[in-house]
Amino acid sequence: MAQPQRTLFDTDEPAWEVDDATEQCVATVVIPQRPIGPLDYTVPAELVERLAVGCRVRVPLGRGNRAATGYCVALEHRTAERRLKAIDEVVDARSLFSPAILELTRWMADYYLCPWGQVLDAVVPAGVRAEAGRRLTTFLHVPEEIAARRGELKLARKQAVAFDHLAASRQPLTPVELATAADCTQAPITALRRKGLVRSETRRVALEESPAATTEIEAPLELNPDQRAALDHILAALNAGEHETILVHGVTGSGKTEVYIQAIQEVVGFGRQAIVLVPEISLTPQTERRFRSRFGKVAVLHSHLSDVERHRQWQKIAAGEVAVVVGARSAVFAPTPQLGLIVIDEEHESSFRQESAPRYHAREVARQRARREGVPLVLGSATPSLESYARAQAQDDRLVEMPRRIYDRPLPAVVTVDLRTERHDRASRGAISRPLATAMETALREGGQVILLLNRRGFSTHIQCPACGFVLECPHCEIALTFHRQHRSALCHYCDYEQPTPHRCPECDYEGIEHFGRGTQRLEAEVQARFPKYAALRMDADTMQRPGSHAAALDRFRHGEVQILLGTQMIAKGLDFPNVTLVGVINADVAMHLPDFRAAERTFQLITQVAGRTGRGEKGGRVLVQTGHPDHPALVAAVRHDYLAFAAGELPLRKKLGYPPFAHMIRLVARGPLEAVTAAFAAELVNRLKEEDGRLAAGARIVGPAPAPLAKLRGEYRFAIQLQGVEAAALREVVAGATAEVAPPDDVHLVVDVDPLDML
Ligand code: ADP
Ligand code: ZN
Repeated sequence: MAQPQRTLFDTDEPAWEVDDATEQCVATVVIPQRPIGPLDYTVPAELVERLAVGCRVRVPLGRGNRAATGYCVALEHRTAERRLKAIDEVVDARSLFSPAILELTRWMADYYLCPWGQVLDAVVPAGVRAEAGRRLTTFLHVPEEIAARRGELKLARKQAVAFDHLAASRQPLTPVELATAADCTQAPITALRRKGLVRSETRRVALEESPAATTEIEAPLELNPDQRAALDHILAALNAGEHETILVHGVTGSGKTEVYIQAIQEVVGFGRQAIVLVPEISLTPQTERRFRSRFGKVAVLHSHLSDVERHRQWQKIAAGEVAVVVGARSAVFAPTPQLGLIVIDEEHESSFRQESAPRYHAREVARQRARREGVPLVLGSATPSLESYARAQAQDDRLVEMPRRIYDRPLPAVVTVDLRTERHDRASRGAISRPLATAMETALREGGQVILLLNRRGFSTHIQCPACGFVLECPHCEIALTFHRQHRSALCHYCDYEQPTPHRCPECDYEGIEHFGRGTQRLEAEVQARFPKYAALRMDADTMQRPGSHAAALDRFRHGEVQILLGTQMIAKGLDFPNVTLVGVINADVAMHLPDFRAAERTFQLITQVAGRTGRGEKGGRVLVQTGHPDHPALVAAVRHDYLAFAAGELPLRKKLGYPPFAHMIRLVARGPLEAVTAAFAAELVNRLKEEDGRLAAGARIVGPAPAPLAKLRGEYRFAIQLQGVEAAALREVVAGATAEVAPPDDVHLVVDVDPLDML
């Protein structure tokens, strides 16, 4: 018989002999960029005082004791059962995580199957990580009495240059700044300091203050009955002091934002903080103004903040000096000391999903955080994701309906223009059909403004030889290149590869290669040609590259300098322009046929959201949707503003096919530069997954490997594997088990995507 396990059964005896069985302080450390799990280290006596859970530490790693930085995630006093290495240094002066956030990161690592360290790195902004542990900084200056004696000083040339730079500087400089300015090493600076010609002082770096926006605080609006009912549900949850998720399904313009604001007022009244997540694209000055006009202490976090500014905001939030945090998805990690409420506006938006590691959905993270901190989570949308809607229908979450617009304004009339019949009698070969052109003329003549949506940037969608059919493709991506007018170049929308457009077909040498399909640039040219009296403005990823350009463009439109706004889906989101009386959708079919089970949902959302941009003022509004499929259920429902009909038609299909929200999904994508090697790895991985699939419940499936819809991107071949099943935990176990056993070969990278949104 085998030896009994002594540690389990022989409790009177120590498991093994330990020479110095004294208690020690042991820190558990997570090291990012290492696949290994947490490691234990002892904390030397002189560091015990300075170390807290959530601080970073420097530790020796591996046989060679390489220095590595990790996060201390637990501290405990115990007798170490074996010899542990000791921590070298504590990096941060104070913890970077509250216990609740630390626990949340642990959940994310488990749920999204990614290394804990990677999550920790993602939660604390880079600016904060860089500054948090910084010691006092040295500043140099030249005292006035010494500067006055400049003529008497005999200095070596480099010293003289450094001295003069510093004397001329209006503010003290750090040694590094001075060396850069004077283009010298530290040696002449050190010499000046030794001679006492340059004085130094140390102080903490004061983070730059941005001017505090002083806005008059406005009074709350009188709520209508729908708003009142929605607010009462939220207040009930707040007062119960328990977590509840409340889905506010309210049509565009129903006054959802006012409801959030009044709920937040309640929270702030208790001295607690609220976090409001909005899609990055909605972080406009308009949104900012709206919150600032109601709350004094607002922090707005968007992706254009500098590291220093972000750090400053983070510190203010952590210090409890901010009442309301408004931001894009990563604001879900804002270090509010006493969280009272989380709101996610436009919760259906895909920008709440992070598509790089750690791949997470801010809605699910918010749900976990709100649960842990015992506070309500409010989700708002005119077109809730079917995931959120199904939860509310199953009464896991509470559903609140706001079916009417403010002042009972009508929703705009939506009509489809059938491109199949239009094509026959269209005078020009343009993108704008005759009915749409007529509607535009009328709207503009009456002083209204027009929005045109075309969800494709560039000029053409592909460049093709009419003689042999050859299509110009990206050499790295196997995707058709798009013609862009500014540089007369062919551009890849995935990797930014660019080349001049050929005049002759590279394949058959035919002269007269053509541009097919329509992008926003071609639409802009057509609009300018047909409506020369009116100013048009194009908004897409090409024209909106500089920070602030988006806000500036919207301001011009709001002030009426521009009458026609055209662009990609970025114009469809959350904007409120009372003077827009017509919205035209150039081609509703673009999203409809993507190889993605959410294609119909995306189409419905896009049409409904863009339609919601009109009829917000007293003038009313209408929407024309050009399509080759006017009978498509998503369009039929969108025309009637009928979310419930859309959901009622789509949910049974999802159920039948075993897709979310009725099942969970994990998508694995193996990518690598060699097709055969990548395919072989994906095949091996599927075999391992199938060996483990005994753990899966009946009905679960493992599909693939198959070339991904985007089969080659940025020079890498892509193979996808998909797991579907009702038990999320079982799917995760199977994936964790299989991926722990098979490591990808060199150059092959495996992406694990839990609850994927991107199916391409
Ligand atoms: P949603 O977020 O549902 O699209 P908003 O909150 O943006 O709707 O409201 C639409 C418009 O109606 C805004 O201009 C807002 O100021 C206004 N509004 C909201 N609630 C009221 C109210 N109770 N009384 C008057 N105007 C309101
Ligand atoms: Zn490319």
